[in-house]
Amino acid sequence: MKQFIYADNAATTKLDIDAFEAMKPFLLDEYGNASQPYSFARKPKQALKEARAIIAQCINAEPEEIYFTSGGTESDNWAIKGVAFTDPEKHAIITSQIEHHAVLRACEDIEKLGHPVVYLPVTKEGIVTTESLNSMITTSTLLVSVMYANNEIGTIEPIKELCEIAHRNGALFHTDSVQAVGHVHIDVKALGVDMLSASAHKFNGPKGIGFLYIKKGTPITSYASGGAQEFDMRAGTENVASIVGMAVALKKNCEAINENAKHLNMLEATLIDRLSAAGLDFVRNGSSKHIPGNISLSFKNRDGEVLLHRLDLMGICVSTGAACDTVNTKTSHVLNAIGLNQEYAQGTIRFSLGKNNVIDEINHIITALKSIFAKR
Ligand code: PLP
Repeated sequence: MKQFIYADNAATTKLDIDAFEAMKPFLLDEYGNASQPYSFARKPKQALKEARAIIAQCINAEPEEIYFTSGGTESDNWAIKGVAFTDPEKHAIITSQIEHHAVLRACEDIEKLGHPVVYLPVTKEGIVTTESLNSMITTSTLLVSVMYANNEIGTIEPIKELCEIAHRNGALFHTDSVQAVGHVHIDVKALGVDMLSASAHKFNGPKGIGFLYIKKGTPITSYASGGAQEFDMRAGTENVASIVGMAVALKKNCEAINENAKHLNMLEATLIDRLSAAGLDFVRNGSSKHIPGNISLSFKNRDGEVLLHRLDLMGICVSTGAACDTVNTKTSHVLNAIGLNQEYAQGTIRFSLGKNNVIDEINHIITALKSIFAKR
């Protein structure tokens, strides 16, 4: 029987079973609206409070600094659009060329309204350097938004250092940490960031739920008007079951973060060593400091799309780049930004391994790739 191997965890992850079990009561029995004053709403209300506290603890924030959203896209849009018009003296936004489209498109929206946006270049490893931010930041910069880790190539950015530069120049700092939360240690106080985006389905939580960390005192407008939910900042009846699932999944991943990273590093090393030993002509994209399990490989004179479909026929799920970008068959903006040679760029596939992957699956992937390459 064909073995099914899921190696696209940067696109989404399998829901953790404990998270699922924790969600069930709030879907079936404790379905009360958490905003109601009667006793039937007490459990959902308490569950929201506990989930907020658990999530805050996982990133060293205060519970009142966690705002539930529908996921990474909403959190990014809120962070950017919510501060863009708060200071009549400052308008400029600085971001990077390799951000997820949730940030890039939100910045383009702001640009259309007349606010200048600078898109910082990156090194060939995908790093946004402090030198480049220093050279572009001015006293009119309102916000700097740089992702914690890139979704396509896994590179981890020097967030603390970039944030210090932003603050020194009187600007706010936001980081899209959708690929990092639950996978690497995050301490918002140590980083100093003003806002941080996260999405539950990237750390074995349910889809359609996430959060935005907003440091106390950050000037930001509300995202949606209506009811007084989320401290009067994001109206709409809370998705209690998903919020509970998100908290359970995040806590579990954070408690096992070192163990998971060790396991993923071992799988990664095996994959790379064995592919190199097979004599295949490829480069690995990204920096040595990357999200565990994120492996972007570019094979010379190959077509990533064809590789994806051949692997799919063998039961293996990978991505050619960003999953949110499957309609776009051009070389991705990230591979362009790192200056990858076209003869390699076209043959790019991303394996993103997760905590559930095992060594037997890596062996299977290697055999599959070898047989694909032997055919031509
Ligand atoms: N930011 C990054 C870095 C991502 O990888 C993604 C999803 O792929 C998003 C934002 C969007 O998150 P969501 O799918 O929760 O809207």
